[in-house]
Amino acid sequence: MLKKVYQKLQLLLPSEPCALCNQPVEGELPLCRHCRASLPNMLSVPLALQQHKAWDRVVVPYHYKTPLAPLIHQLKFGHKLHLARLFGRLMLEHLQQQNIDRPDQILPIPLHNRRLRERGFNQALEIIRGPAKSLGIPLNRHSCERSRATPAQSRLNAAHRKENLKGAFTVHAPLEGAHIAIFDDVITTGTTMEMVAHALKQQGAETIQIWALAYTPPHR
Ligand SMILES: [Zn+2]
Repeated sequence: MLKKVYQKLQLLLPSEPCALCNQPVEGELPLCRHCRASLPNMLSVPLALQQHKAWDRVVVPYHYKTPLAPLIHQLKFGHKLHLARLFGRLMLEHLQQQNIDRPDQILPIPLHNRRLRERGFNQALEIIRGPAKSLGIPLNRHSCERSRATPAQSRLNAAHRKENLKGAFTVHAPLEGAHIAIFDDVITTGTTMEMVAHALKQQGAETIQIWALAYTPPHR
């Protein structure tokens, strides 16, 4: 009942303006047609990620470039939590266009408790919450824990990234035969995903997909 009243009220309210240019938009997505067309679509996923042996499939719709990169930055560091819903919608549309094998659970990459307290939310969870609900795939929020706080990966080279993350993730629950999609907001070398994928496979996971909103190449 309340939900219906709320839905009717929403119809009467002007919809959220475009997240990029602030102009009014038609439709539910808070992004105008012009800004939507300016998003840095990823036409093909880099081979190194596609052929990575730690997982079976990788799905990434965008490059981590303007105008998307500053928006992701605003979500994480400017506490613009409403942007998570927009990113979720974009991710969902992309997933629906891809011919994906449906995973039976989605695991957002966990933050370490200390970082979670500082930020107040896990951006990966907030982005993928909507798509998980729409697709009817349960979120797995409790099997994997970030057991060690680690320095930001972005400042490290590939070898140091691995070293930095050794033993950073613990998977408690048995996952025998599970088909899991791991989600993170941004993927770079995939080292974080690889560590989590490895830990999940050790607990019996059968297939692993890697889903991320955006890809950025590592610094050389
Ligand atoms: Zn716009």
